[in-house]
Amino acid sequence: AYVIAEPCIGTKDVACVDACPVDCIHPKKDEAGFGEIEQLYIDPVECIDCGACVPVCPVSAIFAADDLPEKWASFTDKNSAHFGR
Ligand code: SF4
Repeated sequence: AYVIAEPCIGTKDVACVDACPVDCIHPKKDEAGFGEIEQLYIDPVECIDCGACVPVCPVSAIFAADDLPEKWASFTDKNSAHFGR
């Protein structure tokens, strides 16, 4: 699955949400809690590894699991945890 890492914190641009064909990036802007949450997350179970979200992110926060920089390794669990995975 793809993972959203640190550059999203404080950015929360939602271009990725619109680009995702399976709607697995949350929360959405109109969803409860959007204002309080620090970043967006990808549901690792629903993600189909299409890569469509990567080029639309203005801060390059999204990585395929294999390409995730080591310094942001903890974000894999952080994305999963958001969905209780
Ligand atoms: Fe959605 Fe594709 Fe990005 Fe996975 S890789 S989060 S399915 S746009």
